[in-house]
Amino acid sequence: MRIDVVSVIPEVFEPYLGASIMGRARKRDIFAFEAHDLRTWTHDRHRTVDDAPFGGGQGMLMKCEPIFEAVRALSQEGPRPRVVFFSPTGTPFRQADAERLSHEERLLFVCGRYEGMDERAYELADEVISLGDYVLTGGELAALAVIDAVVRLIPGALGDAMSAADESFTDGLLEYAQYTRPADFEGRTVPDVLLSGDHAAVDRWRRKNAVERTALKRPDLIDDAPLSPEELAFARELMAEGALAEGGNARHEC
Ligand code: SAH
Repeated sequence: MRIDVVSVIPEVFEPYLGASIMGRARKRDIFAFEAHDLRTWTHDRHRTVDDAPFGGGQGMLMKCEPIFEAVRALSQEGPRPRVVFFSPTGTPFRQADAERLSHEERLLFVCGRYEGMDERAYELADEVISLGDYVLTGGELAALAVIDAVVRLIPGALGDAMSAADESFTDGLLEYAQYTRPADFEGRTVPDVLLSGDHAAVDRWRRKNAVERTALKRPDLIDDAPLSPEELAFARELMAEGALAEGGNARHEC
């Protein structure tokens, strides 16, 4: 996969995407990455990328001309990229979107800054992603989050193919609780079944724990999760209890 990013602060990407799992994935050619300075596509002496909004109001907006130029120029290099913009007004990003984007040959991310972008620039976007219901100072962190979530799904990126298969959201549920040594930390013990060596029993415990955690922490996911009738009944019971528990105390229990 090839990923290009357009930003007014292109230098923020390298430290993260050059380190650890992302860095290794790049070295192994799982993905190629380049960050481009939006100012490359300006033509005035000050390399201006922003201007005051028509109609007044606070702050500056990103001008549309450099964005059009950048996306047009980069789109002409090689296969047509899927063009992604970022905005709090976009579609909330979910694991299924990461999955979908992980099959693209080329992605081009355009990061907003300041008060956002001239609305006409959005015409270039194949999709607009929101990272969540809060406002960042720029699209760079959103781009990094999306790149990370997408790249780790490309076969070979994590080294161990299994580790992406069994996680939160993949089967519509949050992941079960996990433990490592020591089995007893200052009296806090690990569930016995995990030490039993009985793989079928471990699988049953994990499935039940995943249903339980999801029902208590993210009841909004339960309706779409593929559950057996017994699991659904169990989840509903927990959700009813959770609704009764004052102030969401149950959230911290598992
Ligand atoms: N005035 C805008 C916010 C602009 S924030 C509004 O109220 O909607 C500046 C830039 O940061 C945006 O253009 C976008 O690229 C990025 N950004 C901020 N919050 C974001 C979020 N929750 N998800 C994705 N991108 C975000």
